[in-house]
Amino acid sequence: MSFDDRFARELPEMAVSWQADEAPDPRLLVLNDGLATELGLDPASLRSPEGVRMLVGTAVPGGAKPVAQAYAGHQFGGFVPRLGDGRALLLGELVDAEGRPRDLHLKGSGRTPFSRGGDGLAAVGPMLREYVISEAMHALGIPTTRSLAVVATGRAVRRETLLPGAVLARVASSHLRVGSFQYAAATGDVDLLRRLADHAIARHHSQAADADNRYLALFEAVVAAQASLVARWVLVGFVHGVMNTDNTTISGETIDYGPCAFMEGYDPATVYSSIDHGGRYAYGNQPIVMEWNLARFAEALLPLLAEDQEQAVALAVEALGRFRPEYNAAWTAGMRAKLGLPEGLDDEVAASLVDDLLTLMAQSRVDLTSFFRSLGTAARGDAEPARLVVLDLAAFDGWLERWRALAPDAEVMDRTNPVYVPRNQLVEEALDAATAGDLAPFERLLEVVARPFDERPGLERYTTPAPEGAGPYRTFCGT
Ligand code: AMP
Ligand code: MG
Repeated sequence: MSFDDRFARELPEMAVSWQADEAPDPRLLVLNDGLATELGLDPASLRSPEGVRMLVGTAVPGGAKPVAQAYAGHQFGGFVPRLGDGRALLLGELVDAEGRPRDLHLKGSGRTPFSRGGDGLAAVGPMLREYVISEAMHALGIPTTRSLAVVATGRAVRRETLLPGAVLARVASSHLRVGSFQYAAATGDVDLLRRLADHAIARHHSQAADADNRYLALFEAVVAAQASLVARWVLVGFVHGVMNTDNTTISGETIDYGPCAFMEGYDPATVYSSIDHGGRYAYGNQPIVMEWNLARFAEALLPLLAEDQEQAVALAVEALGRFRPEYNAAWTAGMRAKLGLPEGLDDEVAASLVDDLLTLMAQSRVDLTSFFRSLGTAARGDAEPARLVVLDLAAFDGWLERWRALAPDAEVMDRTNPVYVPRNQLVEEALDAATAGDLAPFERLLEVVARPFDERPGLERYTTPAPEGAGPYRTFCGT
């Protein structure tokens, strides 16, 4: 195992050498064998006592120099100049089987200089939650950080009650965030900001290095990556829940699975997070919020975009203007695939089909995941499963007729519309069991969501939404 410490070497102002807290009784709860192999790590040695100690940060492998990373961020719209890894450490960068650098990062590893009032710890439930949801997102083909392992520490964590503590070993193509740039910009040190931007270009957007204005090209590349990412979220009904600028990556990967959830009944105003009172991060607001976050990124980059401030602003505004068309193009292409629409279909015909369907879906609050899947069945000739959940049948039958006249491609639909997503009540059930010591439901759920498009017999309970009367689902930030 050979760790690089490139982030710490190139950006020492943003890295504090630190070490993890002792874990009294570390026990491996889950290990991602496939990901370990991808990283050139041997799953069997990660399972050994020494390997498990590495995964909680108490045994530091040769060459690794763990650091807590500094970053800033807008949280629910308010700027916090110093956030940083309050309960996490970057162990270092590994080169994966494809030659790409990947961060290995530990979450829940104890207090750091960035902990503010927090205890630096994490509980088993929330860390397993990040594990299963990030792996589900990956299986859905959505860019995301990955989860390598969760290790119970044997130490209790105080939340509303005492809970078993854990450390998540997370893998990301990097942990650079919009908030990292906000931190560098806030120091007023333009050389630091430039080194950070060069580091980000080298790591994620190397084509920007050849552009006339490389920092503008970096901004454009991040705008494009995030427009595509948020479109992917919206297409599968994912609600991130805490889209602060410190949770917006430069790589375009989804990061920080806290109060996130998959929407069941279709409603753009859906909010799950218990602290999101204003609905800032509601399902349907996500593209607007991402555009806002990217505006904050542009502000941080201004000193690099042009000598002249006014010219820098003009360049940033123009580049940010591409977010909406890029988002719309990604979302529209995704919706066309979800409906199996033929290539070359007139844009206006496609748009009116999509709009009318979404109106019907919202009226009936249909379960997003199973509804799109049932449209695949309708494309094959049996519209009954879809008709069963729509209230305005006259309107829906009219829609079905227009749509079926286009000969929708059911194969494309089945490759696009998942059967299995980590449904909220099943995630809760699995985490409750795991917290009480029974990992079987969690392992089962993980297997199910790892193959989201591949319908298998006996898994019907993973395809149905929470029963009516279960009350609104709530997620909590106190993770
Ligand atoms: P999040 O919104 O979960 O991404 O976290 C926002 C900030 O709070 C980051 O700086 C975290 O490191 C910090 N944080 C979250 N939970 C804790 C905790 N239990 N102890 C210390 N810092 C924390
Ligand atoms: Mg975060």
